[in-house]
Amino acid sequence: MMRPMTQLRRRLGDAAATALWWSGITHPARWGKERLPVVTFHRVLPADAVADSPYPSIAVTPEELAWFLNCFSQYFRCVSLGEAVAAQRAREPANLPWMAVSFDDGTLDNFEYAAPVLQEAGVTATFFVVAQNASSGHLLWPDRVVYGLRALLGQDHGGARADRLALAHGIDRPIAGDARQQAHDLVVSLKKIPCDRVDAFADALDEETGRVELAGWEGMMTFDQIRCLREAGHEIGSHSLSHPILTNCDDHRLQRECEESRRLLEEELGAKVGAFCYPNGDHDARVVRAVQKAGFTHAVTTDWGTNPMDADPWTLKRSDIQSHTTRSQSGLLSTPRLAWRLSGLHLGV
Ligand SMILES: [Zn+2]
Repeated sequence: MMRPMTQLRRRLGDAAATALWWSGITHPARWGKERLPVVTFHRVLPADAVADSPYPSIAVTPEELAWFLNCFSQYFRCVSLGEAVAAQRAREPANLPWMAVSFDDGTLDNFEYAAPVLQEAGVTATFFVVAQNASSGHLLWPDRVVYGLRALLGQDHGGARADRLALAHGIDRPIAGDARQQAHDLVVSLKKIPCDRVDAFADALDEETGRVELAGWEGMMTFDQIRCLREAGHEIGSHSLSHPILTNCDDHRLQRECEESRRLLEEELGAKVGAFCYPNGDHDARVVRAVQKAGFTHAVTTDWGTNPMDADPWTLKRSDIQSHTTRSQSGLLSTPRLAWRLSGLHLGV
């Protein structure tokens, strides 16, 4: 049940989105020839699995992904980032404006659930994979911490044990809300400290918690699966070696995360890898230099917006696509709302 203020805000948002759409202001025909939109998805999971995933708000169901791709394809030529960037640079003429579709993190659901929907829609995309995790099969550290803390808090004296662990690693452990909230807040605070300390804490938490039972859909894509995606026409990009916050890495680690990820991906794929995606979007001039030096040709951020023809190829903007921000008050996915968000005009209503 929506609260009255939320209801009112949503109704106002619907009215504004509809007015902008019908006046043509947010219609892709108006802006799409001059600007390149790059959309981002993360996990694609069946509806009953979304709520159990570490970050439900950024997961979409296969049905929702099909709706989004169908909607995009009516107004854009949807391709991988590499293809879209090359086409934009060459000012290659097309019937429809270009759009790049990307998936972050390389989780197993991308292969199981996203790839068939992409194939059905005839859309190719870029999958940003975390090279070391694809090799080892280990979950990314934020997911490990979420699952680990949630499990530990359910064990005997879990809260006290988590406190002791955090104290031993010099980490301020947030304790407001339920286990899920505490786990999310802990990940937020870990994103602010040097990445070597994050790794040490995540390993210690795994050890303290013991084996955590995971759902069948949870896991990382293997290199065999990643190669299948490539053979199906998708692009594979690097999302670093181990998904640290690169701005929190020292020079040596930063260089390794960029160079080793590219070397490992190219060795496994037998092909050049040009695209890089900053974990969590975090980048600064030092990080950008390291990515350039590692031999990548362009990189995407999580900064929201579209990219003009002369956009800096090292800090490309993207639009994170979520079903809850696309729903109108009726609960249905709304083209005017999506168009508003994609257009770069969204004012956060
Ligand atoms: Zn990521």
